Amino acid sequence: MSITVKQLELGPMANFTYLICDAASKICVCIDPGWEADKIIGESSGLTISHILLTHAHFDHSNNAAILAKKTGAKIYVHRTETSGETKSFVDGDKITFGNSAITCMHTPGHTQGSACFLIDKMIFTGDTLFVDGIGRTDLEGSDSEEMFKSLQKLAKLPDGTVIYPGHNYGNEPTSTIGEQKKRNPYMRMRL
Ligand SMILES: [Zn+2]
Repeated sequence: MSITVKQLELGPMANFTYLICDAASKICVCIDPGWEADKIIGESSGLTISHILLTHAHFDHSNNAAILAKKTGAKIYVHRTETSGETKSFVDGDKITFGNSAITCMHTPGHTQGSACFLIDKMIFTGDTLFVDGIGRTDLEGSDSEEMFKSLQKLAKLPDGTVIYPGHNYGNEPTSTIGEQKKRNPYMRMRL
């Protein structure tokens, strides 16, 4: 399978939205369309967005999902603990197929109860679970720092070369790898 990724920094909170495209079919999934649906549609010109995946339901990740769904016909997916209205649900280990590719949903609670990461082709889209050199807040309603610790340990088991695509541009660089974060990120270096 051949995959291309577009990382778009949109809105006032340094959010990253992603278009992950199956190169042969030009069918893609969009992760976390929080802001500026028109820009996302512009960036997806010539492509078909078949699925919208949310790493969690916080507004800065989900705000433009319904608009994008309406304009593209894509269905919105979020972990089953955070579904609302028309959204469809996934659980840990579910695979979502688009074109000739599939992306695997990984439940990583902590920042929120239903926080998830999406794994495809040695790339992991980590939402507000793991940032470059940081992690998402665990002091919010629905957060759980023990669950966050377990989720980070789960991510640490991925191969070192796995590329991290976070939910916000909060680090010194927009992406990193699991191996780098295990060395540099204080939250990934913690061991029981
Ligand atoms: Zn959040």
